[in-house]
Amino acid sequence: MPESGSATAQILAEKIGREGPIALSDYMGIANAAYYSAKDPLGEQGDFVTAPEISQMFGELVGIWLSDLWLRKGRPHHAHYVELGPGRGTLASDALRTMTRFGYEPDIHFVETSAALKAKQAALHPGATWHATVENLPDSGPLMIVANEFFDALPIEQFIVTPQGLRRLMVTCEAGSFVTVPEDREAEDPISRATGGFPIGTILETSPASAALWERLSGRVAKQGGVILIIDYGYDRPGTGSTLQAVKNHMPVNPFDSPGSADLTAHVNFHSLANIARSRLLSVHGPAEQGQWLKTMGIDQRAAKLALASPEKADAVRAAHHRLTNAEEMGSLFRVMAATSLEWPKPEGYPG
Ligand code: SAH
Repeated sequence: MPESGSATAQILAEKIGREGPIALSDYMGIANAAYYSAKDPLGEQGDFVTAPEISQMFGELVGIWLSDLWLRKGRPHHAHYVELGPGRGTLASDALRTMTRFGYEPDIHFVETSAALKAKQAALHPGATWHATVENLPDSGPLMIVANEFFDALPIEQFIVTPQGLRRLMVTCEAGSFVTVPEDREAEDPISRATGGFPIGTILETSPASAALWERLSGRVAKQGGVILIIDYGYDRPGTGSTLQAVKNHMPVNPFDSPGSADLTAHVNFHSLANIARSRLLSVHGPAEQGQWLKTMGIDQRAAKLALASPEKADAVRAAHHRLTNAEEMGSLFRVMAATSLEWPKPEGYPG
């Protein structure tokens, strides 16, 4: 039993005691479900800060982006606003307020599992409908789906190249700590066929949960029309190495030290999500770097306007603009990718 001794650590240790080493995706799924159900982790007082919590400009520009697409498609009726993992509901507030100015007042659908965050979302959006899974989203009418820092929280699997071939990494309990160990048989995952030539010790990641969810969303958008807009940290080309990380009180911690009390995430594989969307006959736009995308959408002008309207807030607006767009901050690591139904126009934000 790990020394951290939390209820989640105990549940995981008992599961390992019963079943032997468990998949990393099970470890991450159980840890994150416990983590998000218990508290609101966002903001300076919490564990991490997201773009919509940094500035209203982020949600406003997402709202303009959605409105532009909706207007150029000819104002379709019942084009639902759907957000995955809406956190405190801040992005939705800023986006929907802006959309109203363009005459776009969709109904609101949130996909959320955390009771703590659902309560916060309900305070801001009393008319919203909540869904535990995407299966229950409306099955007619275009879906305008937004996901900011959602896919990074979904469980991943890792594989390691060993002299005996590719092995899946499992989580076990050793001397009171959670550690990863290679499974005792060769991996059956399709990536095992593509790993010839990688040095011993190389780690490869997949996220079957993200791929499956993205595939379902892509199928819906292909059939019903609309768009999926994903904003997250990640990579556009296939790569190697572990990107699993944990954050607590704004500091990196060991992902195996305190399951259930730290946010476990991994980088999003945009390359793989783009391929899945294309296989469903969606058009893929980007990914663009967040800083570039926000500038194309007019964040410089919006910041100048906000600073002029409230001079006492000018420094804060400048700081938020810097944090969202600068390459050293969130500007480069975060990517913005859109997948649209074929009959929909090309979205803004992707020049060239
Ligand atoms: N989008 C928000 C919050 C990001 S944190 C923002 O940018 O501020 C991740 C969000 O996804 C939280 O709302 C969390 O409760 C939710 N979440 C995490 N895993 C989930 C899952 N498997 N199903 C549904 N929601 C999930």
